[in-house]
Amino acid sequence: MTIHRRDVDTRLIPTPEGERVFAHNEDEQPYRVLIEAMTEGALVLSLDGTILYCNSRFATMVGSSLQKVIGHTLPDMIAPADHARLTALLDMNAPEPARAELTLLRPGGGAMPVHISTRTMQIGDRSSICAVITDVTEVEAAMEPRLHLAAIVELSTDAIVSVNSGGVILTWNRGAERLFGYSAKEAIGQSIHLITPLEGHAGLEQSPEEVGRGVITEGLETVRIRKDGRQIDVSLALSPMRDRLGRISRTCIIYRDISVRRRAQERLQSVLESAPDAIVVANRKSRIVLVNSQAESMFGRNREQLIGRRVEILIPERHRERHQGYFRGYYRERASVASTSAVRELTGVRADGTEFPVEVTLSPVETEEDLLICASVRDVTDRYVFQETLREKNHQLEAALQAKDRFLAAMSHELRTPLTAIIGFTGILLMKIPGPINEAQQRQLGLVQSSAKHLLAIINDLLDLSRIESGNMEPNLKPVNAAEVLEEVAHTVHPLAEQNNLQLDLLAGPPSVILVTDRRLLSQILINLVSNAVKFTEKGAVRLSLESHGNNGHRAIRFVVADTGIGIRAEDQAKLFKEFSRVGEKATCREEGSGLGLYLSQRMASLLGGRITVESEYGKGSTFTLTMNSSPAAAS
Ligand code: ADP
Repeated sequence: MTIHRRDVDTRLIPTPEGERVFAHNEDEQPYRVLIEAMTEGALVLSLDGTILYCNSRFATMVGSSLQKVIGHTLPDMIAPADHARLTALLDMNAPEPARAELTLLRPGGGAMPVHISTRTMQIGDRSSICAVITDVTEVEAAMEPRLHLAAIVELSTDAIVSVNSGGVILTWNRGAERLFGYSAKEAIGQSIHLITPLEGHAGLEQSPEEVGRGVITEGLETVRIRKDGRQIDVSLALSPMRDRLGRISRTCIIYRDISVRRRAQERLQSVLESAPDAIVVANRKSRIVLVNSQAESMFGRNREQLIGRRVEILIPERHRERHQGYFRGYYRERASVASTSAVRELTGVRADGTEFPVEVTLSPVETEEDLLICASVRDVTDRYVFQETLREKNHQLEAALQAKDRFLAAMSHELRTPLTAIIGFTGILLMKIPGPINEAQQRQLGLVQSSAKHLLAIINDLLDLSRIESGNMEPNLKPVNAAEVLEEVAHTVHPLAEQNNLQLDLLAGPPSVILVTDRRLLSQILINLVSNAVKFTEKGAVRLSLESHGNNGHRAIRFVVADTGIGIRAEDQAKLFKEFSRVGEKATCREEGSGLGLYLSQRMASLLGGRITVESEYGKGSTFTLTMNSSPAAAS
């Protein structure tokens, strides 16, 4: 750098006793005191930048003493990068006063930002320069947070605006420019009404009373108008700003564009409306944030009376505390296990205080802001009434069934006694014990006897049926020799087979298979199967056999009754074991029967832990198999 060398007033040339040089001049004494009292550094410089005089403040700034500083040149103490600007400051022709921010180097090391202002000074015909140097370190430090804040405000995607108490816009950030379409230049100085719609929401930002009281408003959802006239949904936060004296001088307003969220909410609302149930969505604080119209009509409250209120208002007071605990519990659990739902039966309460049973399904709903809980509520009054009626009917039915069982048991008994007499006495007559009878009488008495026997069989079946169905048939379990039972059955049915000219074969099987069962019931089942085989076979044979499979621990014993009779159609086979079912034309018209035999046999078999199965080919014959389990566990 070049410092202009000019002639210097010799009186100001420093000497080792520089101070004294000044002190000799009495006229300058007051100025010297004044300069010394300054809080800034003060210098008198020659035109080439040599320090002719300085106050102690400057000496302290550079970390030195007056004597050491005087005589040095200022450029030596300024950072080289700032030399050009310093030269400009020391230029005699520069407009006055000249100012600049430079970096002062301290001889001991370190630098400080300083503000320098200079003026030329004429003493006699000599020119020199006065410089005042201010340390701006603190000012810069104080400015830093403000600058930060300003940068944040500028970068914010939210619109941040400040207005004075009269509603005049004072600041307008880039977010506001983007959101409302007005540039800062256009907006600043205008009333905030620039963006408030004429009706409904106008003047909210000023809200003088609240702002006056220092109230902070948050999350207020409203509408504002853009420069292009379009309405936008915004969420608004409003905070008063105080001056140094603590007075509220302006209001800071932050607007957030919630149009996207609104649209999503509207879409969600339309989905909720199409749901068959009442929907209530609540936030973490158990406040209702969304409802559908089904919920409005179910609880007798309109949307305005629901949104923002606690969900507990929908529950009778006595259950509220329990519900709060449940709600919090659900939140805790669901926060970790999202997307699971829970069903609960609760009681709901309408605005008029009437209560009704509800079924509530809770499911978590993840949103950008929070985890919400969606309760889908169904009024189950009808179901309760239906269940109650059903319960009542069941009671009645049970009572009726018991009455029927009692009746059947009593009637069967009452009917059997005279029938036995009829069968017995017709037998005596047929045996001609009282005296001779003619052929016609014999035929007619035979008919009476067979009808009476048939009637007795039906009554016996009915009696068994009622005993089984009322659970009164207790099997009497004992070890039984299976081959022996089958032989007895063959003997019993043999006369019937003979009567029908049928061969009844008992095939040799395993000699002594013992199973624990009820002998009487087992015989009854087998008699039914064998009698049927004989009844439904015109020619050929009925074959009885016994099979034993498995080891000693688990042995399956099969009683097989095979005939060469009329057979059963595949479609009829499934119906065979239903009560009162008689299949095939021949069976229904030719043979007597109640259609109860197989049904009862199957019921009795399952009572003994067994099962009857059938294989049959229509027109060729049938094979009925009774499989019994010989293990004591199965038989018990
Ligand atoms: P029912 O008292 O009428 O014989 P079941 O329950 O014993 O009643 O039999 C029901 C029906 O199953 C019979 O009516 C008959 O049509 C058919 N059925 C039973 N066993 C045989 C068989 N061995 N061969 C052909 N049809 C049979």
